[in-house]
Amino acid sequence: MSQPTMSEARRYQQLRGHLAYLKLADAADALPRVLDQARTEHMTLTAAMERLLEIEVEATEARKLASRLRFACLPEPWTISDFDFAAQPGVDEKLVRDLATLRFLDDASNVLFVGPPGVGKTMLSVGLARAAAEAGHRVYFTTAAELAAKCHKAAIEGRWATCMRFFAGPRLLVIDELGYLPLPGDGASALFQVINQRYLKSSTILSTNVGIADWAGAFGDATVAAAMLDRLLHRATVVGIDGPSYRLRAHQNHANTLRKAVAAHVS
Ligand code: ADP
Ligand code: MG
Repeated sequence: MSQPTMSEARRYQQLRGHLAYLKLADAADALPRVLDQARTEHMTLTAAMERLLEIEVEATEARKLASRLRFACLPEPWTISDFDFAAQPGVDEKLVRDLATLRFLDDASNVLFVGPPGVGKTMLSVGLARAAAEAGHRVYFTTAAELAAKCHKAAIEGRWATCMRFFAGPRLLVIDELGYLPLPGDGASALFQVINQRYLKSSTILSTNVGIADWAGAFGDATVAAAMLDRLLHRATVVGIDGPSYRLRAHQNHANTLRKAVAAHVS
C-alpha cells in the first residue's frame, strides 16, 4: 500500500471530523476499517460509502429498538418462537402465527387471551408485544391492577388527562391479568376509559382468566363490563386457551416420578 500523501491524511481527518460533527459516531469509528476493506477488496466508491452508512444505520436501529424495549416494560424477554405449541394443545397455533404477522395492528384490532392460570397468556402477549417493538412500533406492557393504580394516583394528583394521554399513546398496549385481583372502585371506570379512547385507533392485547360471560360479575358493574366488552370485541381476535398449566408441568412430572417410584417399591 502506498504511503498516503499529506493532503490525503488531512482529508481523512476532515472526513472523521465531519462524521463526528454530524454525530455519526459509529460510522466515524468504522471509517479506518471500511477504508482498508475498500482498498483490499477494490470496492467501488459507492459500495464503500454504502457500507459505511449501513454501519451507522444498523447502530441507530439497534439503539432505537433498545429504547423502545426499555419503554415497553416487558416483564420477560420472551418471543413467540420460545412458545412450545406442542406442549400446549389448547392453543390454536395457526391463529397465533397469524397474530404474529402483526396485521391486527393495521386495523386497530384487539386480542383477548382467555384461559386459566399457567397456560401461556402472558408469554404470548409478551411475544406479540416484542414482535411489535422489533417491527418499530411503540408498545407498553402493564397489568390491569397496575393500570388502575396509576390512574387512581394520577386522578388524586390532578394528572388525569396526562395519564389518559399516556395510555392512548402506544400503538400496542398490553393489559395483563384482568380478573386476578378485584379492581378497586374507580379501577373499572379507568380501564373503561383507556379502552374507550383507544377504540378503533390502536390495538390492545388483554389477557384474563375470566370467561367473557362472567365479566359483569368480575367488574361488579354490568353496564361498564358490557360497554367495555362492546368496544373490545367489536374488532378482536379471541384466543381461548383451555389446556394444561405449563407452570404445573414440572410438578406433575415430579409427582408422576414419585408415584412410579412408590408403586415400584410397593410391588
Ligand atoms: P399465564 O399468563 O397464562 O398464567 P404464563 O404465560 O405466565 O401463563 O406462563 C407460565 C409459565 O410457563 C411461564 O414461565 C411461561 O414461560 C411458561 N409457559 C407457558 N406455556 C408455555 C409454552 N407453551 N411453551 C413454553 N413455556 C410456556
Ligand atoms: Mg399471566
